[in-house]
Formats: sequence, C-alpha cells, structure tokens
Amino acid sequence: MPRLPTAALALAALALAVVALPVESQRLPPGPVTQPSRSHSIGYGNRGRLLHSVALEPTDLVRVRNATHAHGTQELVDLIHWASREVERRYPGGMLVVGDLSRTRGGRLRPHRSHRAGRDVDISFYLKDAAGEPATDLNRFVRLRANGKGGTRDGRVFEWDDERNWALVSALMGQDRVPVQYLMCVRPFKERLLEEGRRQHAPAWLMRRVEEAVGPRRTRGSRRSLSYGTHDSHFHMRVYCAGDDRPRCKDKPPFWDWIDYPEVEEPPAPPRRQRRRSRRSRRRR
Ligand SMILES: [Zn+2]
Repeated sequence: MPRLPTAALALAALALAVVALPVESQRLPPGPVTQPSRSHSIGYGNRGRLLHSVALEPTDLVRVRNATHAHGTQELVDLIHWASREVERRYPGGMLVVGDLSRTRGGRLRPHRSHRAGRDVDISFYLKDAAGEPATDLNRFVRLRANGKGGTRDGRVFEWDDERNWALVSALMGQDRVPVQYLMCVRPFKERLLEEGRRQHAPAWLMRRVEEAVGPRRTRGSRRSLSYGTHDSHFHMRVYCAGDDRPRCKDKPPFWDWIDYPEVEEPPAPPRRQRRRSRRSRRRR
C-alpha cells in the first residue's frame, strides 16, 4: 500500500473536519436513555395522579428545593438529570435549581393547578451573579424584571444567563425521547432565548419548536399567563405521557407536528364553570 505524505493526510483530515462541522452543529443530542419504568402517570396533568413515582435526587448539577414535592415519572426525572448534564457539557459550572414536581402519589399540590401527575416541573432560570459568574448557591427562584435582572432581599443581584438558558432549552426541545409539550416563561425571556438561538445559528427546525412550544401560554379561565407574572423566575415544563403509560395517562392538546403521537383523541370538554375572577385563576401553574 503506497504511503501518503503526512502533509496530504493532514490536509485531507482538515478538509473533512470543515465539511463535517456545519452538519454536526445541526445535530443535537438525542435525549436521555430512560431507565425501565415502573412509574405510571394517570389522568391529566391537572386532574391526575402518580403510581410508583421516582424521586428526583440532588446531584452536583441539580439542586432540589423540596424533596417531598420532587416526585415524577421515571422519564421526567431522567430528562431533568440529562438536561443538567447537557448544559454542564457545554458551559461547565452552573447549577440547575428545581422546584416542585409532584407529591409521591401525585394529586393536588398547592399552590399549583397542575403538577398532579408527575409530568410537570418548575425549573429555575439559570442565573449569573453580579460578577458574571454562574449562580450556584441559590436555593430559591429569583424573579427577574423584563430586562433580565433581579435580586434577593439580602441585596444580591442576579441576571439571566443567555448561554446556559439556551443550552437548557435547546437540549430539552431538541430531543424526542421524552417529548416536551411546553416550557412556559414570560415573553421577554422567550425573546432572549430566540435571540441567543439565532446568534448561535441554531437550525430552523429547532427555532420553530422553541417559537411554538416555549413561552407564555393562554390557559382556560386565565389570561394571566399572557402578561408579565408567574413565570418570571422559572420555566414550567410539561412532558407528554410516556408511551407505556397510555391510555390511562391522558394528554390534552397541543400535539405539535414534530411529536410522534398515535391516535390523538380530543378529550371531552369539561363542563363550563361559572366564569368568575377568583383567586383560583391567579394560582400558579
Ligand atoms: Zn409549575
């Protein structure tokens, strides 16, 4: 076999790398390999319950605010840990602060309307401190103003972390193993996410997913989520029912066109209650 000169080999390798680079940047990690699951989400996210739940355990990358409210399906718990590792892989040094998932057996969890069937989770925005370093010692959510800045009562100031929040959202929305139905946050942060995605030349299909499934949502009986409010400190994430939890596990629309979801049935419309602007409609999701 004739020996190629080293320089020619190096040149060929370089050319290959240059060609491969744009393709590689369009590809995203495929998502968590979920453990065999005994967990079972039953019913709807806002009317359901949870069997054989899995506790979200804290790690070096995940802080759990309240262990008694940190139970979910195996798939959701695996997704959270996987996403925290994805962010760390791209931007080391951050901390994912997780609020409520569900109770051990699901059911009502105040003050939320949903969080009942192990498929909802509140995830703090990634924040930077005044020195521009990732905030890693927070055990709470910090509300941010529309300009992305906020603070705690002891005078510490924090700011939205563009790179880590985009890394989180693009990891979650770019995978199909545990499909995400939506990620709620107030509009200014959706705009910042899209801006960061454009800056990083994210692929068009991913930008469309973020455009459609991330941000404020109008919900029945409440227009509040359209305005600035609840989701100014954290994302509220809902994942679809796992395949082996259906049909007892129930999803409501929307069913995005990138989701491979068999036999979608529109759930019967619940009886219309008296319209009243009560405290109920202002509860957190
Ligand atoms: Zn929530």
